[in-house]
Parts: sequence; structure tokens; C-alpha cells
Amino acid sequence: MKRFLFLCLTLSISAIFATAQTVETTSQDSVFIRQIFDQALVNGESYQNLEQLCKEVGHRLSGSKEAEQAVVWGKKVMEQQGLDRVYLQPIDVPFWVRGDIETAAINEKEDIAISIKTLGGSVGTNGPMQGNLIEVQSLEDVAKLGRKAIEGKIVFYNRPMDPRPINTFESYGGCVDQRYAGASTAAQYGAIAVLVRSMSLLETDPHAHTGSMGYKPGIKKIPAAAVSTKDAEMIHDYLQRNGTAKVTMNINAHTNDDMPSNNVIGEIRGSVHPEKVIVIGGHLDSWDVGEGAHDDGAGVVHSMEVLRILKALDYKPKYTIRVVLFMNEENGNMGGKGYAAKAKANNVNHVVAIESDRGGFSPRGFNIKGDSNDVAFVQQFRKVLEEYGLHHFEQGYAGVDISPLGTKENLVNPDLIMMGLVPDSQRYFDYHHSDTDVFESVNKRELELGCGAMAAMVYLLDKYLP
Ligand SMILES: [Zn+2]
Repeated sequence: MKRFLFLCLTLSISAIFATAQTVETTSQDSVFIRQIFDQALVNGESYQNLEQLCKEVGHRLSGSKEAEQAVVWGKKVMEQQGLDRVYLQPIDVPFWVRGDIETAAINEKEDIAISIKTLGGSVGTNGPMQGNLIEVQSLEDVAKLGRKAIEGKIVFYNRPMDPRPINTFESYGGCVDQRYAGASTAAQYGAIAVLVRSMSLLETDPHAHTGSMGYKPGIKKIPAAAVSTKDAEMIHDYLQRNGTAKVTMNINAHTNDDMPSNNVIGEIRGSVHPEKVIVIGGHLDSWDVGEGAHDDGAGVVHSMEVLRILKALDYKPKYTIRVVLFMNEENGNMGGKGYAAKAKANNVNHVVAIESDRGGFSPRGFNIKGDSNDVAFVQQFRKVLEEYGLHHFEQGYAGVDISPLGTKENLVNPDLIMMGLVPDSQRYFDYHHSDTDVFESVNKRELELGCGAMAAMVYLLDKYLP
């Protein structure tokens, strides 16, 4: 018994003090990382690739012909890189269509137009629909007000993003429930439609920002649209002055049958562990507004540029380095789910998955989704990355596309480390899911620094992973 206790004690102490594998980066690493950044900044192709994707293909919602053009484009660019293998992975995707009618107005002697964008997945209004507005701050407000106040009305969710968090994704996370669940919550109490304040931190933003919404099964599907923050403020003032507002909405969005599509995959085979994969990627689809430049054209070209840089420097990776341009992140994540399911079925051992889906802004570091040892392991690279402005190496969310790789049903390698590139987040929600997310909103150097950050991280992981 005593011996057993002793054993338990020893085991638990070693569990507590288990440390990350120690890494001593060398001056050779510093020299090589300098070469990586020089490649990104001097010979970079990410910016011209992004221009092609944005200007020749344009926005590319899953199911659209532009999304298929993006697949062809991605495959062509990677084939020109001379990789060991480039291929398509078929998946089926939802096909939602915005339609050509999308208007809302406060009815007065002269209508006051409201800048809206129908939310992705929403049903249409089936012709003009009129109702009185009721302003709320939250889903809870709707429940509190109850059927008597809500029935027959258009519910206007107007909780702004909190300006205080330095990480703006935190503010987004604190607000996005209105957009995603607002319609079904309001419909439960008899609302006929919802308008939702856009997820933008700028109170004077004239552009509405779309995004995905979902309907709860068994509850009536009512139309849902985002309102620009500028007009959300205008409506709020109008309601303050007049007590009530009669609004007409007209939307003809609809959902078609699922469409066949593809993830686009390219890779350099590992020289020591070809069967083990470091996967990096972003999503090829975008919303059907703007050009999907930051979201997520940047992540697409970041990822492709990593392979170009490593090849240009004649680096022979130990592990297979694979880029996946995922399809359908925005409204279903069928690409991410399909990729992970196939990997599980084929028992593919992913050692690391890195996603870039937070825009093409100056990189600050990486989020690490793993245990404290994984975080400590990656933090040891800070020494050689800090001079490039990379200082954030913290536990955090990695990315939507890669997340299915880590679920219980799909996980092959329990030591998988998932990471997400973390660029500066201050301007991301100025552009996110709106008409302004265009090529011109991306700064060339900031984009290229992101490529360097991704390539340097891949190099270090490939070299130092046990
Ligand atoms: Zn995205």
C-alpha cells in the first residue's frame, strides 16, 4: 500500500512538472528566418495572388460560379508552384442566394431608407412586409418582453460591440449571438422579421455587414437582415423621438439545393516523416459582398506563399507540409468537416494544423489550442520571432476550418497542436463581411509579413517537433 501511495505521488508530481520539450533555437535558425522574411518582402507573390483572386474571381460564396472559379484558380496557382502533389477534394456545400431585392425603409411621408444586407441563410419576405419596430439589446430582452410585446413586430437588435477589449474578436464574440440566433428567438414570440445592428465597431459605418444566421428546428423561419451601424443609430434616435416606427422590408433571398464543390490541396512531401502532416490553410469561399480580401483571401495567399517560400529557399521539410484551401467556412464549414472526416477515415496523422482567418494585417503571433505544454513548446520560438513583431504566443482559438480535426470523432493523433495566426485586430471588423472587404483594403507589407510569420512558424515546427 505504501509503495502504491509512493507510486501515485511520484506519478502525480511528474504529471504536474511535466515540461515541454526543450528547444534551443540557433543562430542558423535566425539566419534562415531572415531569409524567409526576405523572400516574403522582396520576391513575394502573395499580393499579386490576392489581386487575382479578388479582381479576376471576386466574391465567392459557396455554390456560386465564382466559388468554382476560385477552385480552378487555386489549383492552377499551386500547380505552377511545382509542388509534389496538387489535387481537389470533393465536398457538397449549401447554396444560399441573396437575390436581387434587399431593401428596408422607415415609412414616413417620404420613406427613410435603411442600409441593410440580408443575413446568410435567411428566407425572403415574399414581397414587401410591413411591421412596427421594437428595439432590444439582447436575446434575453426578447424573452423578457414576451409575446405580448413582440408578436407581429419587427425586432431590432441593437447591442453594439464593446469598444473596450483590445482583441476585437472578443467584442465580436460578445455580440454575434444577436445575428446568429436573433431570428429564431424573436420568432418564438411571434415576431415577423428581425433587423440586427452590424458587427462593426465604427458607429458611423454606412455599410451593413452580413454573416451567417441559423434557424432553430421547429420554429417558423422569419427574414433577417443586418443594418449598418450608422442607420442603427439613426433608427434608435428615430424611436427615441417618435416612440414607434413603421418599417417596410423587402428581401428575396432563398436557399437552393446543395452543390458539389471542392477543397483545394497542395503539398510538399516530408523527407523523414512523409506520412505525418503539418497542415496550413485558410478558406477559399467568402460572403457574396466585397471581394473577400481579408476574409479570407489573405489566409489563402498566406498559406500558398508558405510553400513557395520554402521551395524557393530549397528547404526540405521533415514532415509533409500541406496547404488546404477550405471551401464553405462561412455558411456550413463543409470543407473543414469533410477534410477532417476523410483524414480520420484514412488514418492521416496530423501533427500540427495552422489556420489564417483573421485578415491580412500586421502579424502579432499565434494562438495555440493545446495544453500548457504545447503553449510552452511554441513559446520557445519567441526568441527568434520577436524581431519581426511576433510576440503573442498564447492559449487561444485556432480556427473554424481546422477545428473538426480536433474533435473526438476525428482526432487521430492526440498530440495534434492547432494554431491560428493572430494579426492586429483593430481594423478587421471595419471590413468583415461588407462591401469594403476589397483588395485595396489590404496593405502589401502587412500581408507579406503574415506570410513570413506563417512560413517561419512552419519551419520551426518542422525542425523541432519531436
Ligand atoms: Zn473567414
